[in-house]
Amino acid sequence: MTNDWKTRTQLVHQGSRRSQYGEMAEAIFLTQGFVYPDAESAEARFVKAGEDEFIYARYGNPTTRMFEERIAALEGTEDAFATASGMAAVSGALMSLVRAGDHVVSSRALFGSCLYVLEEVLQKFGVKVTFVDGADLGQWRTAVTPDTKAIFFESMSNPTLELVDIRSVSEIAHTAGALVICDNVFATPIYSRAVEQGADVVVYSTTKHIDGQGRALGGVVCGTKDFVRKTLEPYMKHTGGSMSPFTAWMHLNGMATLDLRVRASAASALKIAETLAGWSQVGRVIYPGLASHPQHDLAMAQMGNGGTLVTFEVAGGKEAAFRFMNALGIVKISNNLGDAKTIATHPATTTHQRLPQDQKDALGITPGLIRLSVGLEDTDDLIADLAQALGRN
Ligand SMILES: *Cc1c(COP(=O)(O)O)cnc(C)c1O
Repeated sequence: MTNDWKTRTQLVHQGSRRSQYGEMAEAIFLTQGFVYPDAESAEARFVKAGEDEFIYARYGNPTTRMFEERIAALEGTEDAFATASGMAAVSGALMSLVRAGDHVVSSRALFGSCLYVLEEVLQKFGVKVTFVDGADLGQWRTAVTPDTKAIFFESMSNPTLELVDIRSVSEIAHTAGALVICDNVFATPIYSRAVEQGADVVVYSTTKHIDGQGRALGGVVCGTKDFVRKTLEPYMKHTGGSMSPFTAWMHLNGMATLDLRVRASAASALKIAETLAGWSQVGRVIYPGLASHPQHDLAMAQMGNGGTLVTFEVAGGKEAAFRFMNALGIVKISNNLGDAKTIATHPATTTHQRLPQDQKDALGITPGLIRLSVGLEDTDDLIADLAQALGRN
């Protein structure tokens, strides 16, 4: 379904299909089912549904299909399946693929719910999971064996923005015949070249940059037609994790501006990171777009950009970090990311609160650490807000 359109054209037009009314904007088909002209047509459709034929919204819907075609073209995959949340996408991609006795290798620095799926759910059903330090290729090499069915990682970790080298890790996985599943949320679909670099399946929580306005929960799994329709779709459509047509419609609207939004946020994030690095109230600044990031070269080769998140340490620990957060005006305290609104998160006490102290230490989640998801406000206003909250004036 790919064509030679460039990203911004795809984001506006790809996958659009029009009803007999020729509506300009993508229509929302808020219907659970479809009417067949006769019993023979119903029978035929249940034997094999054609391109523009639908049966039930849990199986597929015209609005959802438009969204799937648009994101697949953007990601450069043959197909995509839209899910009810990012976690429905992650758990569906893994659960549809593996069976008891299979082996999975995963990076350890994971979004809390992803860790739950790998650590609790998969192992409960008899899948063996080995966790590695995602940035250490030696550990991937040792962990992946001929029995490894899949490897899973977040291409950029939360909240310390550490990268997994997609190309090298995919080579290791493919030598053993394992499928590479990449959760690419932090890289965003705009800076993603995950498939070109070797990933077989790319997963997004569309709740983040794709919705981009903090309204809807959604997810998507992108991959080959064979994986998406033969392995994933039967699992998703029968277990009930499909995306609602209303969400797909919001995402279609959101995607028209995705490239503009992500690039504006990323440009702001770079300027904010550079500014924070020069302030005495701030300790280390972690941003892959800064030359000081230990994987700066990899980030540039892999994404061509540092992304929309900046993580930094407020000097003075938790007390100073809370004082800073409570003094913020424009920047909101929350835990989402990829929103038009800039959001500050204190990982140690919220998103990563449940981790035992030794794991927080291992992941670098210190009491003064703040994760900033940079939105679309004016960069100078954001910097002024951060400055006053840090007591610089
Ligand atoms: C948010 C997020 C998820 C989960 O997505 P939901 O839409 O909240 O279910 C998974 N992985 C990463 C990296 C995320 O940031």
